[in-house]
Amino acid sequence: MANKALILLAVLLCAEAAFGVAVVSKAAWGGRAPRSKTTLANKLSYAVVHHTAGNYCSTRDACARELRSIQAYHMDSLQWPDIGYNFLIGGDGAVYEGRGWNVVGAHATNWNSKSLGISFLGNYNNNRATSAMINAAKGILADAVSRGQLVSGYILYGHRQVSATECPGTNLWNEIRTWSNWRA
Ligand SMILES: [Zn+2]
Repeated sequence: MANKALILLAVLLCAEAAFGVAVVSKAAWGGRAPRSKTTLANKLSYAVVHHTAGNYCSTRDACARELRSIQAYHMDSLQWPDIGYNFLIGGDGAVYEGRGWNVVGAHATNWNSKSLGISFLGNYNNNRATSAMINAAKGILADAVSRGQLVSGYILYGHRQVSATECPGTNLWNEIRTWSNWRA
């Protein structure tokens, strides 16, 4: 019986690992529930990369504090229903849940309902994304394809390609231009 239980546990752990990167839930970073949600369709053709242009963070606590501050700004000052991005990447290498899957974000005017918005915490005119952050972002994008949120040949843009902004910062812009799904 004990062996059977161990085998079952191993199978379950492998199945879990097959679903890619772990996402730190909004509840885990102390985020607030959204005021409302609009459904984001599956099989989207675009993902847009941003930076928050705010503080860089390299620990779970510091990133959680920064996320709560950004969410408060988006919800209380801008009167958005939730933090703007679908997912965020911390300097600790973690993926943080924003609006999450299948929810329209507020990150790129005219592109919100046709793209997934991923934002790196920090200002990438000065900060540099670590390899752990890059792997985390590529991991959540791969998960988006495997769950059908993005089509496999999706096009990756930096925010500056769809709006007049310097986002996602020059260092991150130079990085994402090397990714296979990026297009000029
Ligand atoms: Zn942006």
